[in-house]
Amino acid sequence: PYDVLVVGGGPAGAAAAIYSARKGIRTGVVAERFGGQVADTMAIENFISVKATDGPKLVAGLEQHVLDYDVDLMKTQKAVRLEKKEFVELELENGAVLKSKSVILATGARWREMNVPGEQEYRGKGVAYCPHCDGPLFKGKKTAVIGGGNSGIEAAIDLAGIVEHVTVLEFGDTLRADDVLVKKAESLANVTIIKEAMTTEVLGDGERVIGLKYTDRRTDESHLVELAGIFVQIGLVPNSEFLQDTLELTNRGEIVINAHGETSIQGVFAAGDVTTTPYKQIIISMGGGATAALGAFDYLIRN
Ligand code: FAD
Repeated sequence: PYDVLVVGGGPAGAAAAIYSARKGIRTGVVAERFGGQVADTMAIENFISVKATDGPKLVAGLEQHVLDYDVDLMKTQKAVRLEKKEFVELELENGAVLKSKSVILATGARWREMNVPGEQEYRGKGVAYCPHCDGPLFKGKKTAVIGGGNSGIEAAIDLAGIVEHVTVLEFGDTLRADDVLVKKAESLANVTIIKEAMTTEVLGDGERVIGLKYTDRRTDESHLVELAGIFVQIGLVPNSEFLQDTLELTNRGEIVINAHGETSIQGVFAAGDVTTTPYKQIIISMGGGATAALGAFDYLIRN
């Protein structure tokens, strides 16, 4: 068996693998797509000590660093089941079952998409999902936030301090965000909130986003908003479906962890965007991966 088997090859999984391997213990990594969300990222400007980089560069760096150690890297392999027996057993989609004394789950998350024409075409060219990451790229420009829940209204307040104007489009007839956030957003002169608005299309000039179309659900009329950026804030979905009924998840599907990265199953740890850790960021996921690896090592020397 492995000593530590890491599931996921994003920043959390890579950090967990490096920290584990540096302890001289038998380490494996199973990753459906090495790099995770970072592979889909254009500009990264908040990875501390690296002023600016991009996703593919950071992914190459992660892989080089992992392979610098004696790690079994199993790419394009998907985990479909986890079970704790004498060892923790991880079943892969291809039928193989891997055994390990401890497991670190770092399967990340994915942003819910609007599924409208233009969204994919202009992803990274005006269509964005992370205001902390991409907000500053729209300095002085007009933007929209899709979604009036907590993350949408927080994004609008955040962006209002950077961009020229923010239009919030909410599908429902009420905002689902906390009252204090709604009051704050409503008090900002450069934020407009439109309810019962169904976004129907992202418009671009072939290079970049130039606007969006939405339908007023009360009147069925179509409207055009001219803007440079669209922040989609309709939910971050943890990749934890295969763990349903296996360990403790929140009602949103996040793996519940404590400060040591421990889950509800002894010997099973978790890190990064798939967990209850607040604020989903590269640097935070890496810290979580390091914590989980040290937690797993602590567990191994005691058992
Ligand atoms: P992920 O990066 O999601 O990686 C998950 C890994 O698990 C992947 O390798 C995946 O293939 C694998 N996996 C999933 N399910 C399974 C399974 N069943 N079996 C095996 N493997 C599985 N953050 C910043 O700090 N700065 C930025 O500028 C920034 N920009 C972003 C831009 C975009 C477009 C997006 C989408 C996100 C951005 N983020 C940014 C957020 C950041 O990418 C995430 O917080 C971070 O990647 C989370 O790391 P993770 O390792 O937890 O998960």
